[in-house]
Amino acid sequence: MNIIEGIRTVEELEVENKRVFVRVDFNVPMDDGRITDDTRIREALPTIEVLRAKGAKVVLASHLGRPKPGKHDGLSMVPAGERLAELADVEVHVPENCIGKTAQKVIFDLRPGQVCLLENLRFHEEEEKNDEGFARELASLADAYVCDAFGALHRAHASVHALPRLFRDRAAGLLVMKEIRSLGRLLEATERPYVAILGGAKVSDKIAVIEALMERCDAILIGGAMANTFLAAKGLNMQRSLVEHDKLPLARTLLEKAAARRIDFLLPTDLVVGESVKSTEGRLVAAADVPEGMSALDIGPDTVARYAAKTADAGLVFWNGPMGLFEQAAFSRGTFGLATALTESKAFTVVGGGDSAAAVHAAGGNLAAKFGHISTGGGASLELIEGKKLPGIEALRP
Ligand code: ADP
Ligand code: MG
Repeated sequence: MNIIEGIRTVEELEVENKRVFVRVDFNVPMDDGRITDDTRIREALPTIEVLRAKGAKVVLASHLGRPKPGKHDGLSMVPAGERLAELADVEVHVPENCIGKTAQKVIFDLRPGQVCLLENLRFHEEEEKNDEGFARELASLADAYVCDAFGALHRAHASVHALPRLFRDRAAGLLVMKEIRSLGRLLEATERPYVAILGGAKVSDKIAVIEALMERCDAILIGGAMANTFLAAKGLNMQRSLVEHDKLPLARTLLEKAAARRIDFLLPTDLVVGESVKSTEGRLVAAADVPEGMSALDIGPDTVARYAAKTADAGLVFWNGPMGLFEQAAFSRGTFGLATALTESKAFTVVGGGDSAAAVHAAGGNLAAKFGHISTGGGASLELIEGKKLPGIEALRP
């Protein structure tokens, strides 16, 4: 199964002297107007470079955050434009509206090889409504369309869904191609054993992906707060840990399914506990002995070693969701230890999920470079693995 069969790539488009609308994903994490992680901007550079080299006039557009209707909430694309200008060593004009006269004027003035970045698409509510009229206004700005916004492909929003259909010349960008090629290996699942590691905040966020992975994986290893719910479902007293009590029956059903299919479904045997999510000190305990008043906030070294052993001779590993509250040093060892172990596995290792990718970067030691693929999309990568059709891909089909 090849999801992108028949879809043109940016390299195949005839773009010389043409205005090319490029939907990128510059939805970068910001802190007080500063970009804290520019990975998504860096990952868009190859497509931008190809277009510039071919003499296109490059019109970039993205959403950023969730501005409330009528409010801009400090969510301007200007900081992203400045970062792009540094990274690509090019001047980047940012008109203050993504449609209308101000945008037209900037785009009209572009010469081949020049770049502009439109203002936040979500400043118009029509973007999230997949509005045809808004899409037509965007379409009037360009001659061709390229989608390189992997992280937005699962959303039927105007710039990824209604818009591409309005162009005869539409194509996928290099980041989208790379993501689909890498994540596609998880769908094909020909490399064995296939091991999935799931963690993060909630079981409820990931039910569909757990069920989809059960169809394909040989082993599923659980960590993070998600593990608490499974451990509680097995009758352990998790004390003050984050447990989704309404999901206990579901957790039991999933455990039974895994057993029936002979999937190795591993849960933590030891945990690092703390008094609250603000604790700066952790205490190592057996999973069955979480002390009264304490919360499980990380997996322990025995669990890391068991999980590392499972992945050592795997063919394929997919990891979504941190193993603990890695943002706090006291509870980061499980996540960072597992990340290190994965770089030593001979498997093709894929990381999906915004916080998981951040955790791999935070682990330091240039670990990120040793993974097979770190997806720039959280929701999009999960939906792809679930085997769902992505609206942004469907809209690119001939
Ligand atoms: P991703 O974005 O990679 O899909 P999630 O959003 O599901 O991951 O979960 C990430 C969050 O889960 C992190 O902020 C992390 O601190 C939190 N988390 C992981 N384990 C625990 C735990 N045991 N207790 C509380 N929070 C946890
Ligand atoms: Mg997250």
